[in-house]
Amino acid sequence: MNASLPAPSAASPAPAATFADRHIGPRSSDAGQMLEVLGYPSLERLVDLAVPASIRLDRALNLPSALSETEVLAQLRRIAGRNRTAVQMIGQGYFDTVTPPVIRRNVLESPAWYTAYTPYQPEISQGRLEALLNFQTIVQDLTALDIANASLLDEASAVAEAVLLMRRSGKNKGRTVIDADTLPQTIAVVRGRAEALGFDVEIADLSTGLPDGDINGVVLQQPGASGALRNHAAVVDAAKERGALVTVAADLLSLTLITAPGEQGADIAVGSAQRFGVPLFFGGPHAAYMAVRKGLERMLPGRLVGVSKDADGAPAYRLALQTREQHIRREKATSNICTAQALLAIVASMYAVYHGPEGLTAIARTTHQRAVELAAALAGSEAEVVHAAFFDTLLVRVPGKASQYADAAEAAGFNLRRVDADTLGISCDETTTPEHVAAVAGVFGATVEADADRAERIPADLHRTSPFMTHPVFSRHRSETAMLRYLRKLSDKDLALDRTMIPLGSCTMKLNATVEMESISWPEFASIHPYAPESQTEGWRELITDLEERLAEITGYDRVSLQPNAGSQGELAGLLAIRGYHRSRGDENRTICLIPSSAHGTNAASAVLAGMKVVVVGTAANGNIDHDDLLAKIEQHAANLSAIMITYPSTHGVFEEDVRWVCEKVHAAGGQVYIDGANLNALVGLAQPGEFGGDVSHLNLHKTFCIPHGGGGPGVGPVAVAAHLAPFLPGDANRDVTTDDAPGAESGTPVSGSMYGSAGVLPISWAYVALMGAEGLTSATAHALLAANYVASRLTEHFPVLYTGVQGLVAHECILDLRPLTAATGATAEDVAKRLIDYGFHAPTLSFPVAGTLMVEPTESEDLAELDRFVDAMIAIKGEIDRVASGESSIEESPLRQAPHTAQLLIADDWTQAYPRELAAYPLRSLRHDKYFPPVRRIDGAHGDRNLICSCPPIEAFED
Ligand SMILES: *Cc1c(COP(=O)(O)O)cnc(C)c1O
Repeated sequence: MNASLPAPSAASPAPAATFADRHIGPRSSDAGQMLEVLGYPSLERLVDLAVPASIRLDRALNLPSALSETEVLAQLRRIAGRNRTAVQMIGQGYFDTVTPPVIRRNVLESPAWYTAYTPYQPEISQGRLEALLNFQTIVQDLTALDIANASLLDEASAVAEAVLLMRRSGKNKGRTVIDADTLPQTIAVVRGRAEALGFDVEIADLSTGLPDGDINGVVLQQPGASGALRNHAAVVDAAKERGALVTVAADLLSLTLITAPGEQGADIAVGSAQRFGVPLFFGGPHAAYMAVRKGLERMLPGRLVGVSKDADGAPAYRLALQTREQHIRREKATSNICTAQALLAIVASMYAVYHGPEGLTAIARTTHQRAVELAAALAGSEAEVVHAAFFDTLLVRVPGKASQYADAAEAAGFNLRRVDADTLGISCDETTTPEHVAAVAGVFGATVEADADRAERIPADLHRTSPFMTHPVFSRHRSETAMLRYLRKLSDKDLALDRTMIPLGSCTMKLNATVEMESISWPEFASIHPYAPESQTEGWRELITDLEERLAEITGYDRVSLQPNAGSQGELAGLLAIRGYHRSRGDENRTICLIPSSAHGTNAASAVLAGMKVVVVGTAANGNIDHDDLLAKIEQHAANLSAIMITYPSTHGVFEEDVRWVCEKVHAAGGQVYIDGANLNALVGLAQPGEFGGDVSHLNLHKTFCIPHGGGGPGVGPVAVAAHLAPFLPGDANRDVTTDDAPGAESGTPVSGSMYGSAGVLPISWAYVALMGAEGLTSATAHALLAANYVASRLTEHFPVLYTGVQGLVAHECILDLRPLTAATGATAEDVAKRLIDYGFHAPTLSFPVAGTLMVEPTESEDLAELDRFVDAMIAIKGEIDRVASGESSIEESPLRQAPHTAQLLIADDWTQAYPRELAAYPLRSLRHDKYFPPVRRIDGAHGDRNLICSCPPIEAFED
């Protein structure tokens, strides 16, 4: 692979570059140079030594041959052409919406936004943090609750999170009661979670009051699944009197017109922000939200943006209460949410910024008016509109004729909700036109009369009177020019993959190719309702089946489910499959889950949510699983052993030689093996977890398979299983699983409200696999190993590499140990991370999985020049640490501790630092040509946590 290419001759022009040539950063001559530095004759030799022979795949992956970019787009056009768009009036939590083109192109389709990482390094993330803070403010204002998070995965799982929150904090330990008029997919997801954790959920019609007995928490939907608008104040009061907490799942758009949950006394509000400009996407990705009243903020799942100040006292945003993050809390974590839906929350927030409170209210009014017109027209037909009070959805009774009418509507191009044999649901949204209303009325033999009663159907006692979104940010960006510049201003503050490598260990921040992204906003993919009739979704199902099969081949498992919409949800689905399997064999007692101490925090949190008990297995001195401890724990828990969760290659960036042995020992004791596949970028084409001992794995398509990270989501966390676990894969939350399902059909616990979770971004991974082919994918893996070993080898004399395999090689990432330097000089891993900003880099992973270290994962996509730029920056920083070591400067007065440096600080007349300005700003010559200035200096996180502010601060804070 590293052989130099023959010089092109006039007779035989050089072959056109393949896509793999574009995806992989180093040219073949660069790879040769990197191998020379490492002392290996070829890439094959390096790979042979790095990957243990005992797990090495001895054949090429069986995948269709690689397509060119043109061919892949043609294929995607063909597949999209098998979907059929319709006027989507199914509702049930998913509504058509107009994504303003300025937001579609400049957020959803802009790499400045979609290639960004989760804002853990806040100094280089002020733009996206502001956008997420706007999202939180919008949600707080509309729900009239005190604190909202920066998104959750989908509405159904957000309600499940709310139920768990109520159970943790409610005084009363009784059952959870869910109103019968809650979305059916939500009820299915909550029931699944409750079943795993062993608590009772009762579904009851709360319009007639609360049932007797102890109640921990109550869930209401507003408007109800039936479209009915009800005044919940009495139920909320009754619940409070009984010591129960109350969650309202509320439609954000309707809250511009109706009383907010917080004003009715709710403790928690959850729901979806999808209809704020996010396409239907066949079910996701969409941002869910959660808001809570004061006092519950420390239990809030997901990420929370807060306001703090930087080293100069200037206001600055950062993620608040980070000690709550699941990688610190582990089995004490209250939620496993890591990747959420940041990009979609940003789209929704910008939609609200663009429309402002009056614009949103106008959209809600028009939507309501369309529903009123339809109800008025239907009054003259045999269709009975069941509820007098509604917002956008009519429940229509047509005894015995529901199918007949729905079929007729479908033939006319309208999808209605088929509730049961007698009942239909018809939902309006911002795209519904008077012509649509007339046509749907026509299906029922009714006509829209000009003089019909068009009075609103929102009861007077539910009228919203309180103001919302009064902050100036919601009135300043109404022209397209202003909006465009606001988006550009924010993204210019941030470092994303479009400006620098993001060498984050465990996160695989690789190329998100433009061609992979292109098809996701095509209407034939984007405008499909998740519950559309199967005849309209053939293209989607072809793409999904295809991707499932290819991922099964890549991983060596038998079946794959694409339902989980993040890695954490894949873990939960996989562990629930293990649980289901044990129970199907009468092994109810098998609940112990062994997890190595180095595991990602989501592992332990997911195990707890799957009703398991975590037992930690220690790490040996070489970073591998401690064999003695493992054997002891297996023996101690053999009778109750459910599973082990291991990450391979390990979170220490090492291929452990004995992984087969570990799997065999666990199997011999009757346990199942869960292999966390977040590090699959080190394995694709070289080894298969399903072959070397795994029973189940989740993958992160937003890592290995090129879905962009979006600043903290979307993600897709498919779960791949061996055949014996296939019957326990997640089922469809929108369908009652019946016993006459075909054997082997997925009938396990659903983890998302729609069957294919974040379906809308699956064309990205499908395209990546199709473009690369077996050879390209394997070459990418080899180059990922090469890049990591190149960086490790060049840096280890400056920062020792903590763990390597038996050959002295790392896998696809390496841990740089700062602890000896910290002990000697006081310079910390955090100082290095912040100083890297002055050099124009996003920091590596900080203090995971080992505190006081940096974990570097360069990926195959970075070319040699960028790898060297990073290495040079790290070596220069080491020089700065050396000057502290030699006593030339104190750590406090060094550029390390003062980093990062803003332009404001550097240009100020009174420069008081102990080192020259030039050293602060341009420590390397090359920076003179390409310099990033962070907008804020180092941020004081503790200050922000003590003075928690999680909504837009007064604008003056930034303007004086
Ligand atoms: C990223 C990661 C996860 C969690 O994935 P999310 O999509 O963020 O939920 C789990 N395990 C490991 C090792 C990871 O790196």
